[in-house]
Amino acid sequence: MSTQNKDLRCGLIGEHLGHSFSPIIHSQLANYSYELFELVPSELKDFMSSGRLDAFNVTIPYKKAVMPYLDEISDEALLIGAVNTVVKKKDGKLIGYNTDYFGFSYMIDVLGVEIKGKSAIVLGSGGASATVCAVLSDRGASKITVISRGGKDNYENLHLHYGAEIIVNATPLGMYPNNGISPIDLKKFTNCKAVFDLIYNPSRTRLLLDAKKLGIPHINGLSMLVAQAAKASEFFTGNKVDGESIKKIIEDISAKTENIILIGMPGCGKTTVGKILAEQTDRKFIDADEEFSKHHSMTPAEAITSLGEERFRELEHETLSRICKESSAVIATGGGVVTREYNYDLLHQNGRIVYILRDIDKLSREGRPLSQNSSLQKLFEARKDAYIRFSDIMIESTEIPELTAKKIIDAINKKETE
Ligand code: NAP
Repeated sequence: MSTQNKDLRCGLIGEHLGHSFSPIIHSQLANYSYELFELVPSELKDFMSSGRLDAFNVTIPYKKAVMPYLDEISDEALLIGAVNTVVKKKDGKLIGYNTDYFGFSYMIDVLGVEIKGKSAIVLGSGGASATVCAVLSDRGASKITVISRGGKDNYENLHLHYGAEIIVNATPLGMYPNNGISPIDLKKFTNCKAVFDLIYNPSRTRLLLDAKKLGIPHINGLSMLVAQAAKASEFFTGNKVDGESIKKIIEDISAKTENIILIGMPGCGKTTVGKILAEQTDRKFIDADEEFSKHHSMTPAEAITSLGEERFRELEHETLSRICKESSAVIATGGGVVTREYNYDLLHQNGRIVYILRDIDKLSREGRPLSQNSSLQKLFEARKDAYIRFSDIMIESTEIPELTAKKIIDAINKKETE
């Protein structure tokens, strides 16, 4: 990284930027400063004339709104009708570009799906949808239909498009904090060859989890986000960003934001190992049982005794729905989460699931009603297949929690390089 751009003042403007990944991406692209500016619409005009930044990115809801303040707009941005990158030239003129075009093209290349000759539907008719349509058209899609709530093609007559081969979600449906919802029932699209979801938080939206189950090639929006930032950085500095750097940043962010979810029998060491893992991987630690107790003013053990297991599982699912939306966390789950298949998607939406296997006679039994009331061996027999089915990685516990944590980190790093 060169030092010549360190005085450049860059940033991002938008209305809600709380969960933006842009600062972390730009910090890896170059060494200019990169600040977030949350503006309400009435503040946009003053900001545009303030000269506070030398170059900046623009996000929802200002990609169109900045255009009247610019002195020049690139052909691509004019065609798409949206600007996401603004650069102030030496003479003070503001030039607008659209780097989302490059970002979505990059995303298609990462998935490696041929667009030429295929029919596509694009969900949503906002700024990102216009970019997606331009790229799909340039790549030779045979037909592109925008599905818009108020348009001619909408969610009421979606059956007319069940033959679509390419599906792109350019709506915010399913995005954090409204995880778990999908704009469409993917099963109905029996001819679908690829699903692109522009959302990157969570890393697997409901739509992408469904695509995975149906065996349809799919990809989230992280590669687009990083690629558009790389192109913006080129406009900011004039320096080219190579493909290897883009790839490395995508992998790095994906690894940093992923949750590590620990499953296993009660007393296998999920909490003890989890705390060590969190410290060693710079993640926050969340104990699902503790969160349950805080929220319901009773421990899982008390809930099972007083409400019965079925009701407890429903409440546990609600707790998991909240905590699994987080990113960059180690989450220790209760031993029975795998007994309910519907918990799988929740755990998997942002996380890698690690099964800690421990000998039955070494499990800690303190304060665990299910462990005491039924034979642990029977419980294990009933759950063991589900533990394996849920897990991405299986680790045999050691007597030393630090060593078990290290085994987990090694296994995760190994999987990443595979
Ligand atoms: P936008 O301009 O606000 O447009 C979103 C469109 O989605 C709206 O025009 C609307 O279309 C539809 N929509 C909104 N709420 C909806 C709802 N409740 N149900 C169904 N449809 C709804 O936003 P955008 O800039 O196009 O961004 C769209 C999505 O793409 C966002 O999730 C954004 O984070 C993501 N994005 C990702 C990247 C990336 O780099 N990965 C880049 C740009 C955008 P209709 O009114 O026509 O239905």
